[in-house]
Amino acid sequence: MVVEGREKYVLLVLDAIIAAGCYLLAYMQPELITMHDTRSAYVDSYISLLIVCMMLSLMVGFEIWIMHREKELSDEKSKEIEALNQSQNRFFSSMSHEIRTPINTIIGLNEMILRQNASDEINEDATNIQAASKMLLHLINDILDMSKFESGQMELNPVEYHTGDMLSDVVGMLWLKAKEKDLLFQVDISPELPSMLYGDEVRIKQILINVINNAIKYTASGSVRLQIQCEKESGKKVNVIYTVSDTGMGIKKESMPYLFTAFKRVDEGKNRYIEGTGLGLSIVKQFVDLMGGKITVNSVYTKGSTFVIEIPQIRASEDAVGKIDIENRQRYKTKDEYVESFTAPEAKVLVVDDTAANLLVVTKLLSATKVQLDTAASGIEALKKTLDTAYHVILMDHLMPHMDGVACMHAIRTQTGGLCQKSRIIALTANAGSDMEAFYLKEGFDGYLVKPVSGENLENTLYRFLPRSIVTVTTSKKNSAVKGSIAWIENHKKKAQTLVTTESVADLPRELLEKYHISVLLHMVMTRDGLFLDGAEVEPRGLLEYMNEKGSYVEAKSPSVEAHEDFFSDQLENAHNIIHISISSRVEHSGCLAAMDAANEFDNVFVVDTGHLSNGQGLMAIEAARLAEDGLHPEEIRKRMEQMKAHVHTSFIVDTLAYMARAGQVSARIAGLTNAFMMHPVLAMKKGTIKVSTIYFGTKENAWEKYIRSVFRVKGIIDTRILFLTYVGIARKDLEHIRDMVGKIIQFDEIYIQKASPAIAVNCGPGTFGLMFYTKYDSNE
Ligand code: ADP
Repeated sequence: MVVEGREKYVLLVLDAIIAAGCYLLAYMQPELITMHDTRSAYVDSYISLLIVCMMLSLMVGFEIWIMHREKELSDEKSKEIEALNQSQNRFFSSMSHEIRTPINTIIGLNEMILRQNASDEINEDATNIQAASKMLLHLINDILDMSKFESGQMELNPVEYHTGDMLSDVVGMLWLKAKEKDLLFQVDISPELPSMLYGDEVRIKQILINVINNAIKYTASGSVRLQIQCEKESGKKVNVIYTVSDTGMGIKKESMPYLFTAFKRVDEGKNRYIEGTGLGLSIVKQFVDLMGGKITVNSVYTKGSTFVIEIPQIRASEDAVGKIDIENRQRYKTKDEYVESFTAPEAKVLVVDDTAANLLVVTKLLSATKVQLDTAASGIEALKKTLDTAYHVILMDHLMPHMDGVACMHAIRTQTGGLCQKSRIIALTANAGSDMEAFYLKEGFDGYLVKPVSGENLENTLYRFLPRSIVTVTTSKKNSAVKGSIAWIENHKKKAQTLVTTESVADLPRELLEKYHISVLLHMVMTRDGLFLDGAEVEPRGLLEYMNEKGSYVEAKSPSVEAHEDFFSDQLENAHNIIHISISSRVEHSGCLAAMDAANEFDNVFVVDTGHLSNGQGLMAIEAARLAEDGLHPEEIRKRMEQMKAHVHTSFIVDTLAYMARAGQVSARIAGLTNAFMMHPVLAMKKGTIKVSTIYFGTKENAWEKYIRSVFRVKGIIDTRILFLTYVGIARKDLEHIRDMVGKIIQFDEIYIQKASPAIAVNCGPGTFGLMFYTKYDSNE
């Protein structure tokens, strides 16, 4: 028998106590052993003590030596095990890396086949290849996790996260899968669940995805249900209970003990045709255990199963999630045919990878975006290219011979005479793992993409990093409104409670949109050559030239109900509620009614008919965003907006009514008259419609001055925080002159000189400018 650790010390102490006890007894009660009546008896006694001590020290010395030896052996053994684990881990991560490279080629090139409208047979084969490669990828990820568990190196990475976002992501990934199988997917979230929790969000998602995915996989008909409840524990601790129930094939009683065993698939006969590896639940169980939670299963064979997962978490916010309609957020997402999301022929992109197949895949996947793509097969080659070309974005592999991607990135950033020191550099690597993204960002990369990479991921990343001025958003896509929106919130990972959205006709400058995280739905301009997105694809000057060259067929068009629905559903990814600040419903081609129709499909989208247009509408969007930032409820914001309508001043002085006549808003005769008599009409918002309010005669400059004086005649009521000077076709020096004229009458904290959107420009024509501002208002009115 090998005696281990602390027990050995106990044994030694016992040895010593017994020996000491014996001697003490012999000394104290010598009559029991021998008589100490002679001198020699004392001597004998001391000698025997000496012998006992010597024996004892020998014994103790021997045992200490054995202990040391055993410790040395066990240290060596654990070092060996650790080395073995590490090499196993290295093996699995390099295996994962090596397998990802060919899968990247398979998935990438297969995506290209799927994009071409090939025959049904080819499409079916390509779809099967796609499913099989995804399955392989899944397997690799699972094996990577298993190896980490086996070597004891799996660690949790707790963060604060938004509960609603996390659940929305999980449901978003699986909702379509359930729909494709015609299964009812119900989500029932307790409103008391804290809105923010502290825990390993990524792994909780992984657990839920695995269990819900199984429920969908092993259910042929009926429903899958996810319920989430929360029990309060001591202090900030809560126990979140996720219940996933299905009406599927169920699990036999005798199979239950093997359910969480790795690589064990139960009831193989029945689920032979359902793809799986038997790894999922084993990983789920290990994660749940690591988090100190528990997982239990209740199942009736042939009737269905219920998995209950309890995970202790820390409450990170006193707020509760309240009612969240996760299913609704997913309703409008359907599979689409591939259409590139943007084109950017002026964009310069460099891909650096030592594997030719990877370069080919990225080149092909990005070909439809028309970006100018260069490739480099090594870090050294990349450094040569960055001396000659200023790339907007560089996609960089990590593991490359001679100079790896990290070293190359640092070299580019500090390259003497290099043109890419400030370029966006994205790691595009087969190094997978939850901690990898943090590693690359810490090194100084701007982003991280893991191979195999899909066309969509590549496009999304490029879209994020390319300058907006060289990107044209694609309109032909069915849900063009989603793509045709400017979502400033997209860079803000955390979901907002209330997000303010508006339309491109609100004419808000980019800096204010960014500052207040206002997302914009683009209106359109219809020309004889097709439909263009307002602001993104047409700009006012070009449009006015076009109108003059080709006649009058230019019309502002607002997005349809469906386009609004797509836009709202997309924005709900970023916020729990939407306040949409719409152009007056009473102006020609207003999108307001379509927005209201679309909002009826959601519980959490609120549309405000501002009764204004252009920056008048923009001012209300800014105020709404301020109120949302202050945490006001969307209903309360809507109420305040109603009060505010009367406090927004929107008016324009136009050079000619000819453009309004072309748009059919005034008669051609009146337009002709105003021109003939050098009349300069002022258009102002009255009860939601735009009306000619005053007409000034004389020179342009005189009319402008009179207009400015009349607008600011009652100074005391004006809120001097912000003024918009919105113009169409006015020279810079004239604009400066107008600003000076305003400055002589009244001082504003901020003045934005702003080009009107094309949709406004086509109605007002060049030589137009407007002054837009708030008058003071009291929220208790
Ligand atoms: P797999 O990859 O095979 O799905 P899992 O570890 O996720 O592996 O699950 C192990 C086995 O448990 C499955 O093979 C299946 O037989 C059974 N199983 C898991 N979830 C369900 C469910 N919801 N209904 C019926 N059987 C299930």
